[in-house]
Amino acid sequence: MKPDLFEAPDYYNIDELLTEEHKLVRQAARDWVKRDVSPIIEEYAQKAEFPSQIISGLAEIGAFGPYIPLEYGGAGLDQISYGLIMQEIERGDSGVRSTASVQSSLVMYPIWKYGTEAQRQKYLPKLASGQWMGCFGLTEPDHGSNPSGMVTNFKDKGDHYVLNGAKMWISNAPFAQIAVVWAKNEEGRIYGLIVERGMDGFSTPETHNKWSLRASATGELIFDNVKVPKENLLPNKSGLGAPLGCLDSARYGIAWGAIGAAMDCYDTALRYSKERIQFGKPIGQFQLQQKKLAEMITEITKAQLLTWRLGVLRNENKATSAQISMAKRNNVDMAIKIAREARQMLGGMGITGEYSIMRHMMNLESVITYEGTHDIHLLITGLDITGFNAFK
Ligand SMILES: Cc1cc2nc3c(=O)[nH]c(=O)nc-3n(C[C@H](O)[C@H](O)[C@H](O)COP(=O)(O)OP(=O)(O)OC[C@H]3O[C@@H](n4cnc5c(N)ncnc54)[C@H](O)[C@@H]3O)c2cc1C
Repeated sequence: MKPDLFEAPDYYNIDELLTEEHKLVRQAARDWVKRDVSPIIEEYAQKAEFPSQIISGLAEIGAFGPYIPLEYGGAGLDQISYGLIMQEIERGDSGVRSTASVQSSLVMYPIWKYGTEAQRQKYLPKLASGQWMGCFGLTEPDHGSNPSGMVTNFKDKGDHYVLNGAKMWISNAPFAQIAVVWAKNEEGRIYGLIVERGMDGFSTPETHNKWSLRASATGELIFDNVKVPKENLLPNKSGLGAPLGCLDSARYGIAWGAIGAAMDCYDTALRYSKERIQFGKPIGQFQLQQKKLAEMITEITKAQLLTWRLGVLRNENKATSAQISMAKRNNVDMAIKIAREARQMLGGMGITGEYSIMRHMMNLESVITYEGTHDIHLLITGLDITGFNAFK
């Protein structure tokens, strides 16, 4: 793979809207991605393997629980810093960002928000340091966009619960020490349970043959009469709103992350357009190539502004789920279109692993599907503005 010469575009001087702390946090993440992710990521994606040696680096840049309070081992940062970290990591690879998103927003967040103090003390510091990795089980073989139909369930057996069912498409599942699993109790109410590797009847087979997020490990969670101690139930929130609260946090991070992937594709195509000579000129001199680049930077700039504003609203606790849906949907769509255009600008070279674009493009096919598909987010906006539910 070519050396990482990335330079971040900031066409509207959005840096002026950031604090010194934001810029320091971003720089640390950017430097780490250049040093520890870019040189190895193509090889790991090619062999479809998660590079586990980067876990400690992710912890050091604050990617595990950026906004979780310091007392629990988190980085105690604000929502914009969280977003900037996700942007920088996904600039390197969406699969690596997925690992960090799951750990922070889908495992640490529910333990912090819905768990007991004893659960926070037991799990959060180990998750923040990367000593333990977690995964989040919501999706089932027959219930993806409609998680409320889940069949995974637990029964009260007096001094413990017994959990049965299966989850699929679970990021980090093959290596995670713990899983936050969403399941129905005997009354059909959804709760989160912390399931630990090693519990009898719990297995995590890996999902193979992915053409997307190849550097992220995905698997199933299978529960065959798993005895779960009662103290592993997250007691402080139940119903579908509990997992959806986690998804709000993760989708917000994805909205920032997608900008990172788009910036990397744009920056690569811009540099290539100045170097690649055809018909005696750099291809950047042709109007058709300029149109592509001009549209890319326009869309990146719009996404940066949308996301920065959403970050301000999140910091003030005012962002709605529908606003987060809009940003996730817009930014991932923006990034995937830029990846496709940028790939074309590199001609044949664009399909090789010499450059990051094709990997970003394939990764974004998952990002546009998980955490609510592109169409589902549109329906959320539609419901929000009309008051009519078009889901069913
Ligand atoms: C690589 C990867 C990693 C993932 N990681 C996780 C994870 O860590 N944890 C987890 O719980 N899940 C995870 N997922 C699952 C992901 O969230 C689901 O794939 C996603 O929610 C879509 O569900 P589905 O694949 O079952 O598609 P379906 O729900 O079957 O949807 C199929 C199509 O139908 C459309 N559709 C569905 N309902 C409607 C409707 N009402 N109106 C119009 N169109 C509709 C959808 O938009 C989609 O285009 C991951 C997925 C992938 C690919």
